Amino acid sequence: MSCIFCDIVSGIGKAEILFEDDSTISFLDIRPLNFGHSLVIPKNHYNNFYDVADKDLSSVIKATQFLTNCIKTSLNPDGINIISNNGSSAGQTIYHFHFHIIPRFKNDHFTFRPQFKDYSEGLMKEFAEKIRSAIDSSKGK
Ligand SMILES: [Zn+2]
Repeated sequence: MSCIFCDIVSGIGKAEILFEDDSTISFLDIRPLNFGHSLVIPKNHYNNFYDVADKDLSSVIKATQFLTNCIKTSLNPDGINIISNNGSSAGQTIYHFHFHIIPRFKNDHFTFRPQFKDYSEGLMKEFAEKIRSAIDSSKGK
């Protein structure tokens, strides 16, 4: 199956590349929410965040922090969002794991206004127990 991000890694696909090291590559998003909106990806293909191997995860996070600071210095935004979309319900469209680095400005009209929910009696504990159960069964793996 072809992957447009793997094509960028191999040099077949073109991109406005910002930064590259042994295991990561960063480039401008072609559909920016604000100008300077950038993506950081591992050179190895992973569909999404769930599967990224330790060595690549650590490299991607370091590259993301490095580039975030360079965007902060060069574009002087009021804030920066770092986002990973996983699965179509979360807005993932390219199935090669990537972090978005989105410079934010006052009144930039990128609305990201969540509607917060309230836990009913006992529901918070129920959700915590489901998650802790998965944590317990993952330990030692
Ligand atoms: Zn890929």
